[in-house]
Amino acid sequence: MRDTHKHKGMRNQLAEVVASKGIKDQKVLEAIKTVPRHLFLDSGFEDHAYQDKAFPIGADQTISQPYTVAYQTELLQVRPGNKILEIGTGSGYQTAVLLKLNAKVYTIERQQELFKKTKLFFEKMGYRPKKLVFGDGYKGLPEDAPFDGIIVTAGAPKVPKTLLSQLKVGGRLVIPVGVEEQTMVLFERKSEKKFEKKELGAFRFVPLLEDKN
Ligand code: SAH
Repeated sequence: MRDTHKHKGMRNQLAEVVASKGIKDQKVLEAIKTVPRHLFLDSGFEDHAYQDKAFPIGADQTISQPYTVAYQTELLQVRPGNKILEIGTGSGYQTAVLLKLNAKVYTIERQQELFKKTKLFFEKMGYRPKKLVFGDGYKGLPEDAPFDGIIVTAGAPKVPKTLLSQLKVGGRLVIPVGVEEQTMVLFERKSEKKFEKKELGAFRFVPLLEDKN
């Protein structure tokens, strides 16, 4: 598959749709206009890639809806050079959006099939996260902590304390919390011990899976 003017046009329209749903951050909208989402999907979905919808990516997982990606990314308030940890690499689309914002991205995927597929895809596309890790996101990445931002892209039954502990003071954790349906929750670390918590909109994500071991 290639990236053409037609795709670019569809991306501009998608960015308008996402903006009409309330996303204001111009850098985030610019990323939606730039990242070729159709290349992150199997070719069968090419014609649908720029609809504001989630699609299957194999292993019972989905690429998140563009609005959701934009919403979570806006909440993170990424600045160039920020260290961002992503839990749930999946297709790599969210990773690519973060890279477009010039973040240093550390991303974890716990399904080997998706991990391998996305690793090869990143190499082919020249996307360079700082780390692409096959492992359990519940544990975060203690060796690379603390992070300016942590984004969880699967529905968490509860908030992993480990992730909160891996935030810098001033850092933000964006995590959908809930089982059937999730509430987007934003935590901001105000000091070593103090976290401010905001509960935001309702979403539907695939579940954040507990460790198999
Ligand atoms: N950011 C992805 C969203 C993929 S869906 C995208 O834009 O495509 C959520 C992903 O989280 C799935 O790939 C799933 O395998 C992964 N996941 C679920 N539980 C996890 C865990 N405990 N640790 C790391 N990844 C996990």
